[in-house]
Amino acid sequence: MNSPALTQFFDGHNDALLRLFKRTGDNATRAFIDGEAKGQLDLPKAVEGGFAGGLFAIFVPSPKRESAPPIAPAPDAAPVPDTAPGSPMPPPPDLATAQAATWAMASILIRIEREAGGRVRICRSVDDIRRSMEAKAVAAVLHIEGAEAIDSEFETLDVLHQAGLRSLGPVWSRPNVFGHGVPFRCPSSPDTGPGLTDLGKELVRVCNRLKILIDLSHLNEKGFWDVAELSDAPLVATHSNSHALSPHSRNLTDRQLAAIRESSGMVGVNFAVSFLRPDGRQDRDTPIELILDHVEHLVGQLGEDGVGFGSDFDGAMIPKGLGNAAGLPALVNAMQARNYGSPLIEKLCHRNWLGVLERTWG
Ligand code: ZN
Repeated sequence: MNSPALTQFFDGHNDALLRLFKRTGDNATRAFIDGEAKGQLDLPKAVEGGFAGGLFAIFVPSPKRESAPPIAPAPDAAPVPDTAPGSPMPPPPDLATAQAATWAMASILIRIEREAGGRVRICRSVDDIRRSMEAKAVAAVLHIEGAEAIDSEFETLDVLHQAGLRSLGPVWSRPNVFGHGVPFRCPSSPDTGPGLTDLGKELVRVCNRLKILIDLSHLNEKGFWDVAELSDAPLVATHSNSHALSPHSRNLTDRQLAAIRESSGMVGVNFAVSFLRPDGRQDRDTPIELILDHVEHLVGQLGEDGVGFGSDFDGAMIPKGLGNAAGLPALVNAMQARNYGSPLIEKLCHRNWLGVLERTWG
């Protein structure tokens, strides 16, 4: 019955909590623990694929607009809300709506931990993650993608931090009181508009004080440079790719990558096909090889210690050869086929994430 040991995979980004939050009338907690056919990440798929843990995002859906284009079903999925250049992003949810949704998604993760019999653990430190990985439990780090639930006095941030929040993106791609996100466009430069507001800059300082990771992935280029100038932490994009290979507004230019390298930061390679492909198309029939092309470009720019993965499971269309978290061994096989050695594979799959989290959280 012995199968070869799976490579443990620690991941920069998933939207499983959003998928579970959107379920109506049934038990989100059990759906994750027991697994189900739909969705890309649940406990059985994690166990099957060697998914050892990662950042679990809370994303508050956008309010519905009259005569609006269809809102994306998940944060990096198709059809994106504004494929037509110049069309506006959806407005942000208001504070009360955002907080209610945030408590609900945090509660789903807390209940999963409580009911999973030790197989899922909310981790607040790298030691927690290491212990969880040794125990073969899924190590879950709480992240918010867009800070709409955070009030201007940062009181909510204190409470979320105590509840386990260790990572935060000031904006998702829509604008909010903290800044302007990067709309989904291809081909497009990431330089799409104004960066952080004064309150957004204050948020960066407060996150530095609390040692909360600041995620650059949905910031536009000006916002990126605002954080780069202000933050005393390593620069981290949890789920973004190389703009040189795929000229999508969500991807990072070599100049941005140089700043990330300078800060001893990190990029998690996103499996979203639209951020992998040179043509930015939503096409499931995209080879896993493209993921490795981005890995190799990023390793060239950032070094072997600055690259990992940020799957975007449950938030995006991913290559069909990978499918879902159970398919992660196919990615490891592809790395072996390209003659990546075991030390590099382990760095990419989890060691680099643990390293940058240690440098950020202390
Ligand atoms: Zn995202």
